[in-house]
Amino acid sequence: MPDAFFDLVGQDEAVETLRRAAAAAAAVLRTAGEPAPEAGGGPGGGMTHAWIFTGPPGSGRSVAARAFAAALQCVHGTGCGTCPGCHTTLAGTHADVRLVVPDGLSIGVNEMRALVLRAASTPSGGRWQVVIIEDADRLTEAAGNALLKAVEEPPPRTVFLLCAPSTHPDDISVTIRSRCRVVPLRQPSADAVAEVLVRRDGVAPDVARWAAAATQGHVGRARRLAGDPQARARRAAVLAVPRRLTSVGAAFDAASALIEAAEAEAEASVAEIDATERSALETALGAGGTGRGAAGAARGSAGQLKDLERRQKSRATRAQRDALDRALVDLAAFYRDALMTALGAPVAPVHADTAELADTGARSWQAEGTLRRLEAVLSCRTAIEANVKPRIAVEAMMLALWKG
Ligand SMILES: [Zn+2]
Repeated sequence: MPDAFFDLVGQDEAVETLRRAAAAAAAVLRTAGEPAPEAGGGPGGGMTHAWIFTGPPGSGRSVAARAFAAALQCVHGTGCGTCPGCHTTLAGTHADVRLVVPDGLSIGVNEMRALVLRAASTPSGGRWQVVIIEDADRLTEAAGNALLKAVEEPPPRTVFLLCAPSTHPDDISVTIRSRCRVVPLRQPSADAVAEVLVRRDGVAPDVARWAAAATQGHVGRARRLAGDPQARARRAAVLAVPRRLTSVGAAFDAASALIEAAEAEAEASVAEIDATERSALETALGAGGTGRGAAGAARGSAGQLKDLERRQKSRATRAQRDALDRALVDLAAFYRDALMTALGAPVAPVHADTAELADTGARSWQAEGTLRRLEAVLSCRTAIEANVKPRIAVEAMMLALWKG
């Protein structure tokens, strides 16, 4: 029977650490009624109340955090995967597990304060209050400070699980980092990802191997690529770019196409939730009203609607950037494949299906020209990260790719 850690691909060391910690936490609960041991004593040395899961995108940071949360709520203290504690945690319905997935480009201070407040309450299930913060690197400074206070003096039954790319000060403040135990995750190998797609998702082995290689070991993207024809079409369009760059005009066309594809993908991903949120808010506010105080209430409603629109706009921007970034990662891998060929390096291509095109490119560009093109794609990512308007950055990149 698959346990809570089943989905964590190629992370044996981290899983071992988390299993031990869950067992120690269960021991803390068992002895909770007894007199507190002297400082530093007690089974398992007590409880670590704040954790950071780090690793590159796709390594399974949030999967690890959820699995650990399940193990903390597991009635057996192991993350058995089948008891009500495990089951509801993994399904996202456990009353004492809160998951924060930032919609916008950053997590705001109000959201964090409300969260910290609720996290301090007594766990209704009698075990732990667990707060999972995905993309903790997207906390605003003020939100980070609100979180720091809670992490510095954690309520006895509260556990914070943060997910971030790294513990670099750009991602997580030094003071928060100093209060947390770090669980580093590595990029799983393409083989490990392929195996999971076959074993759990029933993907055909050759498709699984192709998707795992093409997404460079990113489990979620590999699964989507294997199962979603639209994802495959988007990738094919991106990989057609190098072939289409035959003139200045073509470079600008390619830039437009890339931006518009990212916009369309983002719009599709947020449209449904946007509409649901809006109608829920409108229902909550009630339509119309003429009695005493209606004018004041209407002013309040307008404010709340505006608030919602601002949040939705921020989420749309983030979705667009994420979609564009995925495209740029695919494109960078194409030029990386070409560079490996130009250098005669004996490594397998990321994109096996465009390997021939990469070979042709490598022959005409030579290693130096190929490297310049790869650098153009990488600087485009950096520029967008630094808030350069995506269209400007992508146009500059396409021109550089065309000129070499
Ligand atoms: Zn369990």
